Amino acid sequence: MQVSWAELLAQIDGCTKCGLCRARTNPAPGEGDLQARIMFVGEGPGAQEDLQGRPFVGPAGQLLDKMLAAIALKREQVYIANIVKCRPPGNRVPTPDEAAACLPYLRAQVGLVSPRIIICLGATAARYCLGGEVRITRDRGKWVQRKGVWMMATYHPAALLRAPEKKREAWEDFKSIRERLRAMELEEEEQDDGKSANAEPGEDT
Ligand code: SF4
Repeated sequence: MQVSWAELLAQIDGCTKCGLCRARTNPAPGEGDLQARIMFVGEGPGAQEDLQGRPFVGPAGQLLDKMLAAIALKREQVYIANIVKCRPPGNRVPTPDEAAACLPYLRAQVGLVSPRIIICLGATAARYCLGGEVRITRDRGKWVQRKGVWMMATYHPAALLRAPEKKREAWEDFKSIRERLRAMELEEEEQDDGKSANAEPGEDT
């Protein structure tokens, strides 16, 4: 049975399933359009995210906002979450046990939002969403389809802050996201036109 948003947020709020609960100020479960076409998944909360209980609100989040704006998307139009909901101390990579404990929450979020596109931001998100064999420098920008959902990995914005020379490749990936979204919008418009053309006169479409 699918959990409700309220139940899911309450579960995350009181979660003690892994050791990351001990040092957190707040969990940062995720936020955005609950019916978004596109979902972005990062690694875990940082210092600002831990304080505010929101994902991607620090410097990396500000860069993500700019990258979204460059493809005509606002943060409110997408859903943003992380592999782990509580901050790993010192922003270290979550351990496999921590990720395994937290992944059911991400799966529930994907089930509730039902996005058509999932973008993995960075190696950790790519590893747990796409598979351990994925290498971000080699495989970024490549689309794969899983259970009807288009998925792609690109650099984490924090990596772009550390290595600005990667921004050109990230921009190529974001342009590819924009193209896929446009193709989906066209497809949906064609389906709507088809429904209207088949409707009886006076029928509400
Ligand atoms: S990181 Fe996830 S599994 Fe670990 S305590 Fe936080 S919400 Fe629970």
